[in-house]
Amino acid sequence: MVLIPALRGMRDILPAETGKWRVVEAVAAACFSRYGYGELRTPVLERAELFQRQLGEHTEVVQKEMYTFTERLGGGEICLRPEATVSAVRALVAGGLHRRGVARVWYGGPMFRRERPQKGRYRQFWQLGAEAVGSAAPAIDAEQILLLARLWDELGIAHKLELRINNLGAAQERAAYCQTLAAYFRRHAAKLDKTARARIDDNPLRILDSKDDDTAAIAAAAPQMAEHLGKESRQHCATVKEIIAATGVKFVEDAALVRGLDYYNLTVFEWVLAGDKRRQNALCGGGRYDGLSEQIGGPPLPGCGFALGLDRLIDLADETPSPPPDCCLIAAGGSAVYCARIAEILRDAGLSVWPPNSGNLSKQLKKAAAARASLAVIVGEAEETAEEITIKRLRDGAQQRVLLTAAGTVAAAMHSEDKQ
Ligand code: AMP
Repeated sequence: MVLIPALRGMRDILPAETGKWRVVEAVAAACFSRYGYGELRTPVLERAELFQRQLGEHTEVVQKEMYTFTERLGGGEICLRPEATVSAVRALVAGGLHRRGVARVWYGGPMFRRERPQKGRYRQFWQLGAEAVGSAAPAIDAEQILLLARLWDELGIAHKLELRINNLGAAQERAAYCQTLAAYFRRHAAKLDKTARARIDDNPLRILDSKDDDTAAIAAAAPQMAEHLGKESRQHCATVKEIIAATGVKFVEDAALVRGLDYYNLTVFEWVLAGDKRRQNALCGGGRYDGLSEQIGGPPLPGCGFALGLDRLIDLADETPSPPPDCCLIAAGGSAVYCARIAEILRDAGLSVWPPNSGNLSKQLKKAAAARASLAVIVGEAEETAEEITIKRLRDGAQQRVLLTAAGTVAAAMHSEDKQ
């Protein structure tokens, strides 16, 4: 029999990898919390209509990529969520969080899009995102950019990334610009590729970030959004840029940055791999969506948010090691029962304990060092007979033999000295 494989574009993430995911997720969760964002969890299955109009009928996600099913007994169309911003705004309004001022939330979880799989692009992928709803202030947009800059710093990947920013204007400015743009592309339709030609009437903004060379050349000479911006829109983005520049975060202005989804206005931003001019592999994208709440039947509530791709972030943060154990138990003649008792005593003292590995004493010590354990707890026959254990600190080889009754306290103290 052949092993039944995972679905195309979907994958198992094994323990050797998940340790890294946990580290990155924990750093991110701490970062969100330091900026006042609380965790939100929303359903994976949603009504398809929640996304169809909001993301845009003419976007790739809605046209081709959503996993949509018909619910039985007249339940209508449901789908696996392709993103979580719309769900988050719905949840905030339904939960009444917007009544207490600016509501800030973050979320994490799997999203589903039937894309063509390749490295860094999956059909089930993980996003971490944050949304702030209830304020139109540019300080909110800047706050989220600063949060992300800090996150990249903490993960040690800031040098690999570049921030790109654009201003899509207020909704009516964006609409007027789209008309100008469509007229321009219509005049040059013969030189555009097929995908771009199909987008002229429905989604001309997306032609601006075309990956096709000839189309990109036509797009580069297109009328600019900047010429369609009113005073207020200009001022909004100028303030965002002023705040982030004042805190030392560098950015590049990118007139071709339009984002894939329809609900954005004013500030949009993306973090891409440094030097990736065409933004082939964005790590994170976000922006303002001031009309979204009303579009889904909520009150008028300006908002701003972003989502980052965890699969891509984990690849980038490849130096981030899995968390090391505090102790490795080394069975050197002690019985399984005695080892299990010790492990529980050490865990009661708040330490993480890996059970004994295979091999002799020196082999097991080598494995503990490779796992970057702080302590090796050696359990030999003599120790068991005397109801004792030997605790060895791997960094400097300091060693103590102690009674079982003192094991937790001594091990915790040696471990905490190691961390200082
Ligand atoms: P979006 O919701 O399209 O703005 O995407 C936000 C981020 O999610 C992107 O910058 C990517 O890092 C990540 N992402 C989007 N689609 C995929 C995918 N199919 N596979 C892996 N990551 C993705």
